[in-house]
Amino acid sequence: MEQPDDDFLEKAEARRIAAQEAADQKERLKEEEETKKKAINIHKDIDNLQKELNDLQESCKHTDAVIKQRPGDTVKKYCVACDKYLNYPTEQELKDYLYGNDRSTRKD
Ligand SMILES: [Zn+2]
Repeated sequence: MEQPDDDFLEKAEARRIAAQEAADQKERLKEEEETKKKAINIHKDIDNLQKELNDLQESCKHTDAVIKQRPGDTVKKYCVACDKYLNYPTEQELKDYLYGNDRSTRKD
């Protein structure tokens, strides 16, 4: 039986590698497309939830406030019920909050 020559084997290996690379690239593009679709859907969900929260906060009467400091933010007053930012605390409210006075509404 005749042995295939080196050139033939090299070309066959090159074709095998090229086919594998094409398959890998196709798989990467498929994964990228799936990630893109998921990201679009997550953004839609976030938008819908944000709208739902806005509507809820619009209809809330904001009868009770609590002072909180969120990470990376200043101390602010929020509605207890709907968590909407209302305004900044007064100087006295801020002192009560910071020093844990009895009147403090601190809950964090
Ligand atoms: Zn509210």
